[in-house]
Amino acid sequence: MSDNPLCTTITEQLNTGVLILDLNYNIVEWNRFFAIHAHLNLQDMVGKNVFTAFPELPKRWFERKLSSVIQLKTQSFCSWEQRHHLFELSHSRPITTDSHFMAQNCTFFPIETNNEITHICILIEDVTDVCHYQTRLNKTLEELAKANRIDGLTQVFNRKHWEECLDKEFSRARRYDHGLALIMFDLDHFKLLNDTYGHQCGDQVLIKTAQKISSLLRLCDQFGRYGGEEFAAILPETDLAGAVDVAERICRSIEELVIEFQDKRIRISTSVGVATINPDDKRYEDLISNADIALYEAKETGRNKVCAAKEIELILED
Ligand code: GH3
Ligand code: MG
Ligand code: MG
Repeated sequence: MSDNPLCTTITEQLNTGVLILDLNYNIVEWNRFFAIHAHLNLQDMVGKNVFTAFPELPKRWFERKLSSVIQLKTQSFCSWEQRHHLFELSHSRPITTDSHFMAQNCTFFPIETNNEITHICILIEDVTDVCHYQTRLNKTLEELAKANRIDGLTQVFNRKHWEECLDKEFSRARRYDHGLALIMFDLDHFKLLNDTYGHQCGDQVLIKTAQKISSLLRLCDQFGRYGGEEFAAILPETDLAGAVDVAERICRSIEELVIEFQDKRIRISTSVGVATINPDDKRYEDLISNADIALYEAKETGRNKVCAAKEIELILED
């Protein structure tokens, strides 16, 4: 590798790839690490053009990179996060990683002789472990973020996230004087269903009900599980008549829904309360209270029906 045998010994022992090119992209030197991981013979490659030796190299990108290193006379870096790998080198963890090739951090720097750049050195660091653990960490963080938003059983928004959505929609509606409606659902006699058919059946009913309601809402509506057998939907830009219409449609669909569990065909119903934002609602909780009152009325007056909160008329002063 070098005229100095001490340097050669050290370079050959390095756990980093060293590749030296002349300004025509021909390989002048490379070390043992490179040869081993490229599964190529150390001597065979010397004198070969780098694009012939490694046809996988992104030619235009590589040429631009090297040309900027030469022109600016400075080193340049490319991390595995920008490009997973430049060279198709094998790594030493074939079982635990997703990628077939070694993840690489690459450093490019110019080599000067008599104040003139004559060669470029490329150092390749094996960061397969870093890439593997970072990818796993990112996946876990994504799953955690999802678990923080989604109800584990029904896969719709959980109460916490749903309330955050409502808080935002409430502020937006207040600020821009837009409509906002809320629909609250409470399944009828759900305790009896659990007691009769068992909790697993009850769980299946919750899953299917959530799916059914979700399928009947618009993309911009936000639907979540408010509590045990209670669900709630936020309908932005919707007035009371529009929301009651949606609620009626959902109420009828739930009534018609047949849920199969083992050899049984289960039918259910839901009571529904609807409310819209009022001029004197100060907080989103006021909207929930109004929908709750309407829901209570639906329960009290026979279940399997929709009741709407009374709209407060704006009294305009002359
Ligand atoms: P109502 O018509 O007045 O709403 O009667 P209800 O029986 O539906 O209401 P109640 O509040 O008495 O019962 C709700 C039941 O929901 C009780 C609880 O065990 C059940 N429940 C809550 N969460 C779950 C769950 O995750 N799975 C199942 N299977 N049941 C649940
Ligand atoms: Mg309830
Ligand atoms: Mg109930």
